[in-house]
Amino acid sequence: MDSPPVLADRLGRPLANLRISVTDRCNLRCAYCMPEEEYAWLPQPSLLRFEELAQLARVFAGLGVQRLRLTGGEPLMRRDLGVLVRMLAEVPGIDDLALTTNGILLEAQAEALAKAGLKRVTVSLDTLRPERFRELARRDGLEQVLAGIDRARAVGFDPLKLDMVVLRGTNDDEIETLLDYARSIGAELRYIEYMDVGGATRWTKEAVVSRREILARLEKSRGKVEPLVESTSAPADRYRLADGTVFGVISSTTQPFCGSCDRARLTADGRWFLCLYAREGLDLGKALRAGASSSELAALIRTRWSGRDDQGAVARLAEHERAALAAIDELRRDPHLEMHTRGG
Ligand code: SAM
Repeated sequence: MDSPPVLADRLGRPLANLRISVTDRCNLRCAYCMPEEEYAWLPQPSLLRFEELAQLARVFAGLGVQRLRLTGGEPLMRRDLGVLVRMLAEVPGIDDLALTTNGILLEAQAEALAKAGLKRVTVSLDTLRPERFRELARRDGLEQVLAGIDRARAVGFDPLKLDMVVLRGTNDDEIETLLDYARSIGAELRYIEYMDVGGATRWTKEAVVSRREILARLEKSRGKVEPLVESTSAPADRYRLADGTVFGVISSTTQPFCGSCDRARLTADGRWFLCLYAREGLDLGKALRAGASSSELAALIRTRWSGRDDQGAVARLAEHERAALAAIDELRRDPHLEMHTRGG
């Protein structure tokens, strides 16, 4: 298939990546993402059916999107996800189809997902200590996550990535332990700075462990850290230790990479956000259900992306009194502001 003409935003950034949140439900309650006792959920009938999601994916692919990532909430909680994977794997122009999961349900589903055409898996893993897992995620499950990781490797997901959100005073004493674990199983660890996104209502800047600090710490314990020179729009900057271990750091909080951001996010009910920090999204789900054709949807997307000048993380960096993005009552009124709705 010929590549579609590049659709660029006002800063010249192409639309190349789409993250699709397939559900806002999650089976964990991680302190940095879902710390509250109660949540307002998206109404069930508003969730797009697989055919609807696939139609939108085809429209996006026609505008230049090449990479899709399924997320949530916890994407493996969406029933029959393999059916959607199969549909998306067949969309012309999509050359990368990935999944971000907490791994709880991965053991049972990894094989079917691989067969359906899923190419890559990233598992969130913040600790290797069962007690700490329970405290941080407010649910049990470390054993299941590790079994899920094993299964994902066994069915051939390679490279397998592990994402660790580093929180000062909570799990920052596991920076090395997780790196060793990742290396031991042939996975690549990525450290994620704690972000003040919607839903992170307990965020404080004191709890952020910056990229600079992570690297300094590894230099001290593991010796020279060499940056890999790569020209990609991937959010992680990658590094290599003298023993060959490669890892990544996603420094959205202290050193944002908005200038090369080619990602947008679609919620399970079809709201399209141009930035993780955006307050408003374009309601493609509503347009689709009102009967908009694929070319009408494409026109809406094209207009919106052409006007995009969002640099949410850079704007957050400039905030003097930096605190959580949205207050609890605001999140209750509009769950689209939540990270677990928008997809990480
Ligand atoms: N449930 C899946 C999972 O756990 O991977 C997918 C959704 S989750 C919202 C996606 C990613 O967002 C996870 O890697 C999670 O650690 C990350 N995340 C959530 N809240 C965050 C925050 N406040 N700062 C940094 N990363 C965050």
